[in-house]
Amino acid sequence: MLSNKFKPPARASEIRYVIREITLEAEKYEKTRGEKTISLNIGDPCKYDFSPPQHIVDAYIEALRSGKHYYSDSRGEYELREAVVEYEKRKNGLSLSPDDVLITQGAAEAVNVILAAAFEPGDKLLVPSPTYPPYITAARFFGVEAAEYMCLENEDWIPDIDHMRRLIDSKTKAILVINPNNPTGAVYTPKIIRNIIDLAGEYNLYVISDEIYDLIVFDGQRKAPNTASLAKDVPVITIYSLSKAYLATGWRVGYMYKYDPNNLLDDLWAVFTRFLMTRLSANTPAQYAAKAALLGPQDNIKIVVDKLERRRDLVYRRFNEIDEIEARKPKGAFYIFPKINLNIDDNEFCKKLLWNTGIVVPPGSGFGSFGKQHFRVVFLPPEHILNEALDRIERFMKEIAK
Ligand code: PLP
Repeated sequence: MLSNKFKPPARASEIRYVIREITLEAEKYEKTRGEKTISLNIGDPCKYDFSPPQHIVDAYIEALRSGKHYYSDSRGEYELREAVVEYEKRKNGLSLSPDDVLITQGAAEAVNVILAAAFEPGDKLLVPSPTYPPYITAARFFGVEAAEYMCLENEDWIPDIDHMRRLIDSKTKAILVINPNNPTGAVYTPKIIRNIIDLAGEYNLYVISDEIYDLIVFDGQRKAPNTASLAKDVPVITIYSLSKAYLATGWRVGYMYKYDPNNLLDDLWAVFTRFLMTRLSANTPAQYAAKAALLGPQDNIKIVVDKLERRRDLVYRRFNEIDEIEARKPKGAFYIFPKINLNIDDNEFCKKLLWNTGIVVPPGSGFGSFGKQHFRVVFLPPEHILNEALDRIERFMKEIAK
C-alpha cells in the first residue's frame, strides 16, 4: 500500500485568498451554531439583488440556441474583439485594433496570465497597498516581488507617489494601478494617473491598469479616468471584465488590451497569446453575451450605481457613528474599508466579530501590509440587511471597547 503523502511544492504555500478563508470560518460557525451568517465578504452583486440586464441574458441564450458550443479562438472571438475596439473608442476615445485585445476568463485570468508570462523570477511589480489580494498571491507564486506602495488613508486612499518612486530599482518592470481600487473604493483623478504615468516613463516601466470598476463611481461622476488615454508614449495593459458593471460574475468573461504606441509590448503580447492557447478558449457563448453588453443599451448601469450609492451613503454614515470605527467615503466600486480604532489585530477582530455577531468580513491585512487594523465590507446587500449588520457591529464595538 502507498503510504507517502504527496507534498505540494514550497511555492504553493503562497496560494491564499483571505476573502475566501473567512468563508471557511463562517461555515464552521453555521455548522456549530446552526445559524446563518450575514455575509459581507464577497464582491459578487449576483449574490444579492442584482442580475444582468435581460438583453444580455437573451444574447447568451441565443448563442446557445444557435450552436455556439465550440472552443473559440484562444484570443477570443473576433466579433467580440471588434466590439471591444468599438466600446473602448466610445468610452475612452482609444484607437485600438482587434489584435490589441485578448479575451480572458474574467479579469482574474488576465491577472494570472500577466504574472505568469511577463516577469522573470526576481522582477519587481509595484502594487497598491491595500490592494486586490490575488495580485500579491500570483506575484509570489511566480517568484515576482510585489512591492507595495502606500495609499494614503487620510487623503481618501490615493497612492503616495514619493513612496512609489522610492520602491523603484533596476528589477522593477511595471506599476499596477487599480482604479477604482478594491478594497478602498478610492477613485484617482486624471492628475494622479498622470503622475504615475510620468514616473513610469521616467524609469522605462509600463503600467498595468485594472479598471474593472470604472463605471461604478458615485457623486455624479460618469466614469473613472482611463489610464491608457492619458498615457502618451508610456505602454499600458488594461484589464477589464463583464463581472461588475454588467453583473455577469459567473459567466467568466473579461478582456485585456494593450495601448502601445511604440510597439514595446509586442513580445509580451505574443507570449500572452501563446499562454492563452494552453487553456484553449474562454467561454464561447458568454463572449456573445459580452458583445451584446458592450454594444447594447447601457441604461442599467445608472440604475445599479444609484442603488449602490444609497447603500454606500448608509454604511458610510453608520460606520462613522461608531466611536471605535472610522471610514473614508468610497468614491467607487462597492467596498468600504473601515479602520478599527482599538488595540486589536484585525485577524483577531474579524474572527471575534464573526463568533459574536454572525457577520462575515475579511481582515484588512489580507489586502496588503497597509491594510492592517482595517476590515473590508461589501455594501451590495439591500438596506435592511446592511442596517441589521450595522446594528450588530455597533453593539459588538460597544462590548469590546469596555
Ligand atoms: N480585479 C479586481 C480589482 C477585482 O476586485 C476583481 C474581483 O473582485 C477582479 C479583478 C476579478 O474579477 P473577475 O475575474 O470576475 O473579472
